Amino acid sequence: MDTLKSPAIVILAASALATARRVQQRYPGAEIHGLRGRVEGVERSYREFAEHLRGLYRAGTPIIALCAAGIVIRSLAPALAGKGAEPPVLAVAEDGSAVVPLLGGLAGVNRLARELGGWLAVAPAITTSGELRFGTCLLDPPSGYVLADLEQGKRLVSDLLGGARLRVEGEAPWLEQARLPLHPEGERCLRIDVALGNEDETLLIHPRLLLARCSDFADDLAGRLRDLLATAELAEQALAALLVEGPGRSLPAVERAACELGVPLRFIESTAGLPPARCEAPGLSLHQAASPAAAAAIGRPRGRLSVVGIGPGCADLLAPAVRRALDEAGDVLGYETYVSMAGPYRADQRVHGSDNREELQRAAHAFELAAEGRRVVMVSSGDPGVFAMAAAVMEALEASGDARWHGVELEVLPGISAALATAARAGAPLGHDFCLISLSDNLKPWAVIEKRLQHAAAADLAMAFYNPISRARPWQLGRALDLLRQHRAPQTLVVLGRDIGRPAEALRVLALGELTPELVDMRTLVIVGSSQTRRFPRQGGGEWVYTPRWYPGE
Ligand code: SAH
Repeated sequence: MDTLKSPAIVILAASALATARRVQQRYPGAEIHGLRGRVEGVERSYREFAEHLRGLYRAGTPIIALCAAGIVIRSLAPALAGKGAEPPVLAVAEDGSAVVPLLGGLAGVNRLARELGGWLAVAPAITTSGELRFGTCLLDPPSGYVLADLEQGKRLVSDLLGGARLRVEGEAPWLEQARLPLHPEGERCLRIDVALGNEDETLLIHPRLLLARCSDFADDLAGRLRDLLATAELAEQALAALLVEGPGRSLPAVERAACELGVPLRFIESTAGLPPARCEAPGLSLHQAASPAAAAAIGRPRGRLSVVGIGPGCADLLAPAVRRALDEAGDVLGYETYVSMAGPYRADQRVHGSDNREELQRAAHAFELAAEGRRVVMVSSGDPGVFAMAAAVMEALEASGDARWHGVELEVLPGISAALATAARAGAPLGHDFCLISLSDNLKPWAVIEKRLQHAAAADLAMAFYNPISRARPWQLGRALDLLRQHRAPQTLVVLGRDIGRPAEALRVLALGELTPELVDMRTLVIVGSSQTRRFPRQGGGEWVYTPRWYPGE
């Protein structure tokens, strides 16, 4: 199984929730997906079971469905195209009394079933014949080893089931526990080797031992490397990494090559610790480590800093790209409240929640961790570029002369900002031109805020106010409202969104004339409509608020 991709735990009814939570304790990154209207208080909700399951399957997400196996089979049937890259799919009895691996034999579904069976103290319903007989899946070697040819593998397993004996050439430590019909003169052979080969009766497994050191970054590096491997009769699948000397930095040609070859790019301090070269070409040399684990320990990746927005607070308003960054993170930084909203985290993830309001210090901490080669995520609520961490990160980077910081792979992943989340709940109050203003005068003079308010009000823009009030800034909102009232009629519509997307969510619509600072706190987003913003009753109570797309003529 792709160890980075957390399984989705899918349930249909609240009666499965207790078992779902037990499963989640085993896989802390996994989210529980519950049927809307039937299951409350879970990380994700969906409307239609079969469609949701197919979506997860197509995205390659491992699925643990706590319901009847039949329902899962019927739901996934239309999506079962080829037996190529499919994620593990398991059905688990609602009460945890049965674990049934259904699909994803090559993606480690039986391994997952054993893990879960062990966790829930039940015997998993393993039905794969080769695996039952031999206690291992020969076609799904552990990480660090790659099967050269799947069809060859299937033939070998069926030969062994038919009574053939197996001799093993090379080091296959994971087979020591297996119950294989081993014999030094076996008719069939399992060879663990970095070299190419195509003898009949032999199943080749390539250990990822080869490290390609590159010092010439010209184009078509992948092609040149393939030529070198072919000349030396070495398998491309035995490649563990591309190595480059020096601190992590952006190297587009090498990154392209690494991507094309499907191996990581890693940086080494010097060539001193490398095993001797096996073969060489100009600007390229191939080194062979003693074991896949030794190969994987050489060098370190280019660090990455993802500055992400988690949206207003609920998981279904968080972008899949952000979810992925969080799943892949080694370190997560940010204001405590938001960091925990984006959880739960796996035991191997380091969480640096802080109360620290010193954004530049936090940005520096993030760059330092990423410069060590770590995958770091900096969490903001809403969008990271709206009165949040992205600008602080940019500011810290621009001011830094540290080449290691500039070498970090930096990305900003957007989120749904509070103004947009609040507007959506109310209807479309920002349906025409609008502006976003922070009423905090911590980092800008109050005079600047007043001037902007005056201009925005005179321009008849709808406005969204962030940071409207706090204990340290008690009078500013009242002063802003006084200014607004000089330009806008008392019946101008106002929307107050408090804790939108969170359990305590509250939405209120009122007129500018009724708005007093006491109705607002720091967890509120204030939208003041333009002269055109309107409202009408919504069925079931409350009202819709919107600003029309058109504007009356002069
Ligand atoms: N980056 C955030 C804004 C940070 S400034 C974003 O894009 O949403 C903090 C202010 O945002 C708060 O004072 C409040 O005005 C507003 N805010 C943030 N989350 C909110 C939520 N869930 N509901 C209402 N207002 C919110």
